[in-house]
Amino acid sequence: MTRPDELTFSPLGGVGQIGMNLSIYGLGNRHQRSWLAIDLGVYFGDEEHLPGIDLVMPDITFLEKQKKNLVGLVLTHAHEDHFGAIIDLWPKLQCPIYATKFSASLFEAKCAAERGSPKIPVTVVESGSRFNVGPFDIEMIPVAHSIPESHAIAIHSPVGTVLHTGDWKIDPTPIIGKPTDEKRLRELGDEGVLAVIGDSTNAVRDGRSPSEMEVAATLTKLVMAAKGRVAVTTFASNVARVRAVAEAAQASGREVVLVGRAMERVVQVARECGYLDGLPAFRNADYYGHFPPDKVLALCTGSQGESRAALARIANDDHPLVTLNKGDTVIFSSRTIPGNEKAVGTIINGLVTQGIEVITDRDALVHVSGHPRRDELRDMISWVRPELLIPVHGEALHLSEHAKLARACGVPKVMIVKTGDLVKLGPGDSAVIDELPSGRIFKDGAILESEKSRAVTERRRLGFAGCAMVALAINSKGDLLDDPAVDLIGIPEKNSSGQLLDDIVYDIVLEVVENLPKARKRDPDAMAESVRRAVRSTLAEHWGKKTICYVQVLTVEQ
Ligand SMILES: [Zn+2]
Ligand SMILES: [Zn+2]
Repeated sequence: MTRPDELTFSPLGGVGQIGMNLSIYGLGNRHQRSWLAIDLGVYFGDEEHLPGIDLVMPDITFLEKQKKNLVGLVLTHAHEDHFGAIIDLWPKLQCPIYATKFSASLFEAKCAAERGSPKIPVTVVESGSRFNVGPFDIEMIPVAHSIPESHAIAIHSPVGTVLHTGDWKIDPTPIIGKPTDEKRLRELGDEGVLAVIGDSTNAVRDGRSPSEMEVAATLTKLVMAAKGRVAVTTFASNVARVRAVAEAAQASGREVVLVGRAMERVVQVARECGYLDGLPAFRNADYYGHFPPDKVLALCTGSQGESRAALARIANDDHPLVTLNKGDTVIFSSRTIPGNEKAVGTIINGLVTQGIEVITDRDALVHVSGHPRRDELRDMISWVRPELLIPVHGEALHLSEHAKLARACGVPKVMIVKTGDLVKLGPGDSAVIDELPSGRIFKDGAILESEKSRAVTERRRLGFAGCAMVALAINSKGDLLDDPAVDLIGIPEKNSSGQLLDDIVYDIVLEVVENLPKARKRDPDAMAESVRRAVRSTLAEHWGKKTICYVQVLTVEQ
């Protein structure tokens, strides 16, 4: 007798932190499962904790081992936290990728801009369509979000239907694209939904998100009231916002100048997909200086304070083509992502010092989030009426608030899961049945490294307490042939009484070498270890910090 297939789910990223989304679904039994992946995104490195790491990605060891059974990767939408790891990780998987046109085109443009990017084929599917990927019957259900063509994905299977919400909100007037397909979601609910795997980002926020249309109205009012030049910064991928800014410019007789490569790239893709139809062509930054101040609007990258992006350069008066002066206005049509507050604050202070008026979402409704607040989460639950809800796309607090809300709405079963948990969704009782290998990988320059690699740990230590290096040349008896060479890197020059630490270390090295017992003196390794300990403890005594210390002892035969 063959056992009926099980439907399983595992988040290999995206729970416990926002970013690095990778969910996998399995169909089969414990001897043989087919796997479907949804999204493959990055988490942006946190400079303080991960020095020199730009991107963090999910560990895909499990999928690599299951490569033969991995039937495909479906993308919900083209945000970096959902598709940013594909260029680096797809070569290890080589599976078919499915996405709608805008996501596929943006991905193609990204590959073209990245040097050495492999050729990665993407199958374009229609929004709202249904297609098979291996044994999975997939349906792309349109939802509103902060980028065109975001989708909730219904996975239909003989065991039941799962709704993987992706990133979504309810916005009856999203400016571009289709609003969240309430009708189809209600139908799914009528047909019966086994589980919802749902976005928890805004589960701590009451009420409903305002609409993109309200933001557009505010932007028009602000741009019309502005006297001098206007610069607006937003996420390039928020095409509805780009459109709203362009319409505000049009209403006030201003030309839109695009500043920043990411902005140019997204605008080109959005034009190809028809999302900017009816708007006059935008100008490139070369034209900025040609227009009178009240006839121009610069649409810039850099809303997160990125130091090399357009806005930071403009604020530092360091942009070759675009300048702002006293009386001009900068609008941050964005939210500062946690971790970027300092960088954004520096730019705002720089602008304010120059007499430029700065408007952020603290001053006016110039930004809305693309994620559902509590009333929207309640709506989704009431439409879909799942038997089980698993909160994802959130930090611990977001997940637990989403879980509480779902229980209060009467969802029969709610589970909070960890990265790598393998959950049996059905048939029968849902439960965690296994733990899959999971973790993070770092992109360190051009190299992918395990999070356990020592490079980052060492860099963090170096950043905190520098490094002392000592080199000694001795003869076979252990006598010094020359003065010790001492190099202190990232260590203060003088102690608090004003003595040079270089001299103090030099003296202690000599003292240790001279006082070593004869046998130890003849053993270069033993000498190095004695010197290392003495230097470390001397520096700790004078400085109060334990540094990394390297000692090289070179024996020269005479
Ligand atoms: Zn998103
Ligand atoms: Zn996301």
